[in-house]
Amino acid sequence: MNSIDRNHIWHPYASATRPLEQFEVISAQGVYLELANGAKIIDGMSSWWSVIHGYNHPRLNAAMHAQIEKFSHVMFGGLTHAPAIKLTETLLRIVPQNLQHVFYSDSGSVAVEVAMKMALQYQVAAKKPQKRHFATIRGGYHGDTWNAMSVCDPVTGMHSLFSNSLTCQFFVSRPQSTFHGAWQESDLNEVRELFKSKHKSIAAFIIEPIVQGAGGMYFYHPQFLRGIADLCKKYNILLIADEIATGFGRSGTLFACEHAAVQPDIMCIGKALTGGYMSFAATLCSSKIAHTISENPPYVFMHGPTFMANPLACALACESINLLLETSWQANVLRIERELQHLLQALETHAAVAQVRVLGAIGVVEMHEAVDMSRIQPLFVAHGVWLRPFGKLIYTMPPYCISSEELQTVILGMIRSIEEYCV
Ligand SMILES: *Cc1c(COP(=O)(O)O)cnc(C)c1O
Repeated sequence: MNSIDRNHIWHPYASATRPLEQFEVISAQGVYLELANGAKIIDGMSSWWSVIHGYNHPRLNAAMHAQIEKFSHVMFGGLTHAPAIKLTETLLRIVPQNLQHVFYSDSGSVAVEVAMKMALQYQVAAKKPQKRHFATIRGGYHGDTWNAMSVCDPVTGMHSLFSNSLTCQFFVSRPQSTFHGAWQESDLNEVRELFKSKHKSIAAFIIEPIVQGAGGMYFYHPQFLRGIADLCKKYNILLIADEIATGFGRSGTLFACEHAAVQPDIMCIGKALTGGYMSFAATLCSSKIAHTISENPPYVFMHGPTFMANPLACALACESINLLLETSWQANVLRIERELQHLLQALETHAAVAQVRVLGAIGVVEMHEAVDMSRIQPLFVAHGVWLRPFGKLIYTMPPYCISSEELQTVILGMIRSIEEYCV
């Protein structure tokens, strides 16, 4: 392991003094990562949901090169450019129709901060300043910055560590009704009661539509989201859909809100937005919100990142979306879903496995016990696959371009590693 890396570079959710082994990547092509030790392994993680078209894609490379030759960045205060205009035009064609205004930022967590700030400023502008709290369900993940962290799951998130300084929010249980199971109306009881008693102090309800990602890899029933949307309307609470993980096809629809035919007031996108090439994100909102904020003091939305609407990222995102829409992404996601369902079945009867669940191009194996990363990760690599479990969850969300044969390698690698891990 490289000594500069080992001694000086901090990795995500890691110790500086006792880091786990890091595998050095020297090239990446299609679904393959080439490691410094010569191994070529298949990325079963799409680099955390983002690399949907695979690595080193000629069309994405060309889009970046073409924009670099023009200009890589200009400030967005007072200036605009074709990449931002084209991307916005493209996005407006595919997002829920009520979303008409786009605010660009540099990462998913920032897009969530922007969404929360927007919701608060809207309520102030709408003469409801006492609506200043957020509500959400347990088991969520919305990012690592301050306010985003305040709506992450209070147990698996960082709440215990920072609870004295985090804004206190309202949490309700996550729905029992799973995506494929029967709908139980009682899942909405807690929300109904919370809204009834506290709606005067709630600005918005923030939720990951259908798929809870890093907070637990859980797929819930679309009727729950529909019920939340109705209750939000009834009590004048804004609905924020965090589509940062689910956006751009991952769950089988372009956006997961579509499973429930719900139009959120505010929506966050990121991760796969640039096909996983660059950090980039956006917060979209309805005209009602944009107009209310803009027609009341201070008449502007008070946010403006330095790298807002970075032209390289915009050009890239535009090409990534074009590529997605031109390929048969939906057929690919459905094929991946069927193969995951079929092949992961083998684990359902394994003594160490609590549950196997699949939705779209996401396959999850929940173990009874938390896995030891230092022991299981080298097993995956030895079987030619890249997976990054957390807690009890071992999961894959491969690039959509993965072939059936490559997907088999990923799933068999997962199965064999679990078997070897458990002996
Ligand atoms: C990853 C993620 C975020 C945070 O995005 P970053 O780009 O890592 O800041 C927020 N919400 C959800 C649902 C995510 O999956």
